[in-house]
Amino acid sequence: MQTAWVLGDQLTLSGSALQRLDPARDRVLMIESLERARLLPYHKQKMVLLWSAMRHFAQELRAHGYQVDYHEACANYSEAVKAHRKRHPGPILMMDPADYGVAEKLGPDEVTPNTMFLSSREEFRARPYGRLENFYREMRRQTGLLMDGGSPVSGRWNYDADNREVPEKGHRFPDIPRYAPDKTTRAVMELVSRELPKHFGSLESFAWPVTRADALDFVEDFLEHRLDLFGPFEDAIVTGERSLYHSLLSPLLNIGLLDPLDVCQKAEKRYRSGKARLSSVEGFIRQVIGWREFVHQIYHWKMPGYLDVNHFGADLPLPQFYWDADTDMHCVRDAIEGLMEHGINHHIQRLMVTGNFALIAGVVPREVNDWYLLAYADAYEWVVSPNVLGLSLFADGGVIASKPYAASANYLNKMSDCCRGCAYNPKGDCPFNALYWDFLARNRERFEHNPRMSLMIKQLDRKSDLREVRARAEELRARMRRGERI
Ligand code: FAD
Repeated sequence: MQTAWVLGDQLTLSGSALQRLDPARDRVLMIESLERARLLPYHKQKMVLLWSAMRHFAQELRAHGYQVDYHEACANYSEAVKAHRKRHPGPILMMDPADYGVAEKLGPDEVTPNTMFLSSREEFRARPYGRLENFYREMRRQTGLLMDGGSPVSGRWNYDADNREVPEKGHRFPDIPRYAPDKTTRAVMELVSRELPKHFGSLESFAWPVTRADALDFVEDFLEHRLDLFGPFEDAIVTGERSLYHSLLSPLLNIGLLDPLDVCQKAEKRYRSGKARLSSVEGFIRQVIGWREFVHQIYHWKMPGYLDVNHFGADLPLPQFYWDADTDMHCVRDAIEGLMEHGINHHIQRLMVTGNFALIAGVVPREVNDWYLLAYADAYEWVVSPNVLGLSLFADGGVIASKPYAASANYLNKMSDCCRGCAYNPKGDCPFNALYWDFLARNRERFEHNPRMSLMIKQLDRKSDLREVRARAEELRARMRRGERI
């Protein structure tokens, strides 16, 4: 008799530990740990999604003939494991967790390979890919996605440059399907409200799919209604819109309810049957087999130690508005209010609003990292740390990004409609302006040798009011340090 311990982000029947079981003889162990859930005040929607999806997965396993020992709302993992070992002696297997060091902490008897990613950690280490593009092309070749023989379809690998449109005022975005909480989900919602009442965000609008069937339905809706325009508006921000044409699939991909290759193959079919344009399908597939795989690999390559990076020596504590959205900066307020309500923001809000602000204001990277880890429904360390510390904050000094994604209000005004309803002037007193110029000035020497920063540095050197602008940045930072509203 042996046991496969299935973690909450491993909800797939093809998991390698499960594959080793004989359902007639062996057992599956699943544990909800309150101690783990309280490590950070994780968004309530993340906890409900995770635990409800786990409970539904246990039902799916039983329907497939597995014997499942499911421990609801336990004090901690170790007590549940001890009780399990007493009743069912025999080795405990675990599929290698996506987050670094978890297997060592949890102590299974055998770790089986992680089969939830398309690229292998060993191959990545053996081959220096440099930036994403080389890795992405290799993934296209390996998976055969959007390939005609050995060449990319239509002769081009990447359509990123075509994907920079801003929707017209009044553009109507497709509705996002909602899945009404069933009895199981409602029980978990009560549990989370009772046991984790002070956690981030609200549960009121919870409508995530929690079963594989609903997750697949959610994918179909994306393919049918959003994929074709995914590309053109990929970089835009629109007030009140949490998805635009993005897929919202990350919370489901990251817990195993969806399979990355399957989702990409479905997207490719839409292109091949003339139902979605190539620039959108390529853009979507690049996110999944490119970025998603790449950050996972970089994280494992750089761990341990990656969580402590702080290239710019940033030292500002995380401002209060990250917790309550109480700020006059409209773009920030809109992003954080949406996050509290739905458990998610789209990529550009994460990168160019909340991330960009933390970068140019000089917030301590580890505090920013922890905030992203707790505030989002799709957040796990393997995907948060490279995106936050690497892509967004450049705190790793350029392992992932070739330059910091620093931008002033000028960019936000161009790519979003947020500045229209804002108390600040994007051409004047918006905090993004003073903090942006001050960030460049503070780190000027570091950027001098980066050709991708040379235009910014030239603009900095032409700035005649830099002294006043930097004094305003200092004042803003002092106010944030004192916990004052900005
Ligand atoms: P889409 O735009 O529809 O993209 C399709 C899929 O591609 C996503 O579902 C996701 O699985 C994958 N993907 C796209 N970009 C990335 C990326 N940079 N890294 C990894 N996967 C990517 N992603 C998470 O899954 N969890 C996080 O906690 C997370 N935190 C982030 C924090 C910051 C500061 C930044 C800049 C990015 C973060 N991302 C995170 C990456 C990306 O923003 C989200 O994957 C994406 O916004 C999820 O929404 P979506 O499913 O609608 O994505």
